[in-house]
Amino acid sequence: MASGWSDCAAQGRVKRKDAAPFADRAFPVWMVILFCPSIAAQEYYSHGKQNLFPTLHTCPRCHARDSFWLNGFYQRNVITESATYRIYVRRLRCKRCGVSVSMLPSFALPRYQYAAHVVIAALLLRLAHGLSLMGAALTLKLSDSAPSPSIPLIAHYHHRFSDHEKLVEIMTPALGAEAASCPLAKAVAGCGSPVAFNLKYSEIHGTTFLARI
Ligand SMILES: [Zn+2]
Repeated sequence: MASGWSDCAAQGRVKRKDAAPFADRAFPVWMVILFCPSIAAQEYYSHGKQNLFPTLHTCPRCHARDSFWLNGFYQRNVITESATYRIYVRRLRCKRCGVSVSMLPSFALPRYQYAAHVVIAALLLRLAHGLSLMGAALTLKLSDSAPSPSIPLIAHYHHRFSDHEKLVEIMTPALGAEAASCPLAKAVAGCGSPVAFNLKYSEIHGTTFLARI
């Protein structure tokens, strides 16, 4: 199940409780790396801790080889258009430099509970189809009981993504996509799916498309 993934750090930041022992080391001491689990959120959730997690052979911080030990899991929510899944995320820790790495499946986004494809759908409704915030929210809401992003949340996605639009434009020619009024739509099409775009973006730019930059 675990296949294409990258050593590229998707996102890194200081985790305060870990900062002191490694204060003399370079930033960061906590990183998130996206990997492709090749399964959807529901199946990943059903496997619990038994998913096939990729092994990191090279530390993205100190570049030591085979220096990671398994450091348990943490749980987090992933919200799709049909359900909320509480998934396990594998944690690794480098014996040499102490960096803690979280291996996040590429259907998820660091710091955001909605699945990557839901966030991208919201963005495309705004950017490619020109819908208002309310129009996007109503379109995403499949039923009264189904979870969907609120209007303020969609506004937040749009605001945060605006910092990344130029980076998306940069990656579209490399994907063989033609120039278009909506680079995000072309980039997603070029990658084959929103989840593949999420992974590709992190591999190319070393961050995720909603990260603060
Ligand atoms: Zn290291």
